[in-house]
Amino acid sequence: MGAGRAHRRAGGRARIVAMLRAAAMTPPRLVGWVGEDEVWAGGPSRDGVLFVVPAAPSWASPELAAAFDRRRRATLAGHCDCGASRTISPHGEVIFRHEDDCAAQDAMLLRLLQRDARARQGQNASGRAS
Ligand SMILES: [Zn+2]
Repeated sequence: MGAGRAHRRAGGRARIVAMLRAAAMTPPRLVGWVGEDEVWAGGPSRDGVLFVVPAAPSWASPELAAAFDRRRRATLAGHCDCGASRTISPHGEVIFRHEDDCAAQDAMLLRLLQRDARARQGQNASGRAS
């Protein structure tokens, strides 16, 4: 890898950091959906950023809905209730290191989602049987 490529990567990171900083200056606005995901705009309309955030399914338990809500708030604000903050890697990757017991963390969210999905399938199965 040449120095030019490294320079571009660093520039990419700086650009992302600047965009996120600008986005934090105005409250995020829900601007639409992509499939089941919410699309939020942050920052000025020209130089802002779009955040695509998974939305809780309609059948989510209160616990799962709260986990999705925490995830959304963390994504939009750049910091989570667990104390984690968004960081940008030198390669421009957005990284969140949530606490192990944080509901917004990937593994926890997935566990709750699978649990609720199984419970829902169980209800549907018993509904058909009766
Ligand atoms: Zn967290």
